[in-house]
Amino acid sequence: MPVLVMKFGGTSVANIDRIRRAAKRVGVEVAKGYDVIVIVSAMSGKTNELVGWVNETSPMYDAREYDAILSSGETVTAGLMALTLQEMDVPARSWQGWQVPLKTNSAHSAARIEEIPTDNINAKFGEGMRVAVVAGFQGISPEGRITTLGRGGSDTTAVAFAAAFEAERCDIYTDVDGVYTTDPRIASKARKLDKIAFEEMLELASLGAKVLQTRSVELAMRYNVKLRVLSSFEEQSDNAGTLVCDEEDIVESNVVSGIAYSRDEAKMTLVSVADRPGIAAAIFGPLSDAGVNVDMIIQNIAEEGRTDMTFSCPTDQVKRAEQALNGAKESGEINYHDLIADTDVAKVSAVGIGMRSQSGVAAKMFKTLSDEGVNIKVIATSEIKISVLIDRKYMELAVQALHDVFELEKAA
Ligand code: ASP
Ligand code: MG
Repeated sequence: MPVLVMKFGGTSVANIDRIRRAAKRVGVEVAKGYDVIVIVSAMSGKTNELVGWVNETSPMYDAREYDAILSSGETVTAGLMALTLQEMDVPARSWQGWQVPLKTNSAHSAARIEEIPTDNINAKFGEGMRVAVVAGFQGISPEGRITTLGRGGSDTTAVAFAAAFEAERCDIYTDVDGVYTTDPRIASKARKLDKIAFEEMLELASLGAKVLQTRSVELAMRYNVKLRVLSSFEEQSDNAGTLVCDEEDIVESNVVSGIAYSRDEAKMTLVSVADRPGIAAAIFGPLSDAGVNVDMIIQNIAEEGRTDMTFSCPTDQVKRAEQALNGAKESGEINYHDLIADTDVAKVSAVGIGMRSQSGVAAKMFKTLSDEGVNIKVIATSEIKISVLIDRKYMELAVQALHDVFELEKAA
C-alpha cells in the first residue's frame, strides 16, 4: 500500500481534543488506502517547559541528560495519538525513536540522522497495522543513548521517514495554513504562497521563518520528497497549504519571494586583533568547538597590523562565545583588546531565486531602509538572499517596508 507521512506540530496536539482532531485526519487518509506514518511533536509549550527545568537544574548541563529529558514530550504524544486512533478502531501502534530504531550520531541536542531501518515498521504494516505513530525529534546514538535532533527536529524526523519509506508525500500539519511571504503578525499584507522552491524555503527556514526546521528542507531537497505545509485547523482538502518543491515546478515567481527575520541575534566584535595568517581560524575554531553558530562575519581593513573582527550569533550563545574567546585569549591563541557584545540587533533578509537573474535588488533594499531611517550594521549576501543586521527596535518597520517595496502582496 502507498505510504503517507503526516506530521503534527505542537499546536496540533496541544490537548486531547486536538489530538482527536488530528487523528480524524489520519483516519481519512487510512480510509483512502494509505498506510500512514504519523510523526508527532510534543504538546505546544512542553519542550520549552522542559528546557526551563533543565536550565534551572544545571545551567551548563550535560547534553545527554538534556536529551533524555527533552525527548519525553514526544514520547507522551506518540502514545496518546496511538491510543486515540485505537479508540477510533484504526489499528495503530506508537514507536519511540530507539524502537524504530532511528539511528543518529552522538551530537547530543543537535544529532544527525544516520539511518532509519524500515523492516520493523513494515513488518507491522504487513500484519495489519495501518498507522505507525512515531515520536518525532528523538533517536538513539551509537552508544545507545537517547538523542534529540535540535529544536523543531520533528520536521526532520518526518522528512527522513518520508525518504526512507518512499512516501507519496510528507504533509506537515501546523498552526499556519502555509508558507507566507513574511510573518503575517508583522506585516498584515503577507500572502500565502502556493508553491515555494526548496532553495528559497531553505533560506527562509534558516533565516528564522520558523515554519520548517532547516534540516528538514535540506533532506527534502536531497531526496526530492514532496513536502506540503498546511494547517490542521482548516478543512481538509487535497490542494491546501504550500507545496515546497523543485524550482522547475514553479512557473512564475516574484524576484523576491519572501522577507525573513530573526529577532534574537547578537553582534560581537573583537576589537584590535593581530592581523596575521591563521587569525580567523584561531577565532572561529574555538567558537565552533564551543557549539556557537556563527552566521555573518566581517573583518575590517587592518591598520598597523591590527584589525577588528565582527560576527553574529544567536543571543543565547553570547555567553558560550565569550567563554570560548576568553579561553583562547588566556591560552595565548588569540590576542584582542576588547570583546563587545551588542545583543539588541535583529536580522532581516530578502530571499528569492529571481535574484539570480535580476540586478538592483540590494540597492533597492538599502534605499528603502535608508528612507525609513534604519541604520544597517552588517550586510551579507548570497546568490538568492540579502541579509542585514539592524537595531532590533526597527525590525518590524524594516520587514513591512521591504514587503511593500517588493510588492509581495501581489502574486507574480
Ligand atoms: N518538540 C520539539 C521542539 O519544540 C521538536 C519539535 O516539535 O519539532 O523543538
Ligand atoms: Mg515546528
